[in-house]
Amino acid sequence: MKKSLLIAFAIFLAALTACRSTATKSDAPTAEEVWKDYFVGNIIFKDEAPESEGSRIYHSIIPDAEAYIARQAREVLNTLYFSPNDSITPVNNLYYTLKDSEGISAKGGSNGEIYIFYSTRHVEKSFIEQDTAKVDFETRGVLLHELTHAYQLEPQGIGTYGTNKVFWAFIEGMADAVRVANGGFHGEEDRPKGGNYMNGYRHAGYFFVWLRDNKDADFLRKFNLSTLEVIPWSFDGAIKHVLGEEYNIDDLWQEYQIAMGDIPTPAQQ
Ligand SMILES: [Zn+2]
Repeated sequence: MKKSLLIAFAIFLAALTACRSTATKSDAPTAEEVWKDYFVGNIIFKDEAPESEGSRIYHSIIPDAEAYIARQAREVLNTLYFSPNDSITPVNNLYYTLKDSEGISAKGGSNGEIYIFYSTRHVEKSFIEQDTAKVDFETRGVLLHELTHAYQLEPQGIGTYGTNKVFWAFIEGMADAVRVANGGFHGEEDRPKGGNYMNGYRHAGYFFVWLRDNKDADFLRKFNLSTLEVIPWSFDGAIKHVLGEEYNIDDLWQEYQIAMGDIPTPAQQ
């Protein structure tokens, strides 16, 4: 009798612990809560193509562009940083402009003065199937990518975006990683197969998110912050800094490719 009571008590304790751990998880503050007092920059929205069909569609989906951009900015910050106390790239003014031009979207500027343009022609193209949800999804995804460029940290001691392929691949890979991490792509459907993380963009982005999901839940934040500590910066140096000396970037890429079924396991070769 005593023994069964003891067992019952043990089960009760285990259940209590399980409850507590799930409660702790769901109590985690949202990006909105953590970053609500953080100055994301003055967001200055300008529509330079008010007569265009793309502009009409944009405004019908996003009635308050400045609030919308600020909300996505907080999601980006929450993906790149642990808290507002980190060393964050400051943004003073963020000019976001709708333009009737070629291309999709791009970020320019520096030293806290950031310019992002978004093409109304691209909005029109996204609306080809008269599906506003598709335009909304695409607009948010593109915005997550460009906003990452505004707030992300950059490698040091290896040249610049224009002169060094490693610098470029990291910058564009992180921008797409933030987009992947926040549901800005269509999952596996949008994941490129093969290639290499040095291809940047989605090749690197999906890989970085896989590292977050399989090696370290804070991988993206630590990888971003590694630029402050690993100088001169390199993919392998940053991987060792974040995950440990026993890791190697090319071995991890291989492991990722095998795990995703993109290449056969060595035994099958
Ligand atoms: Zn980019």
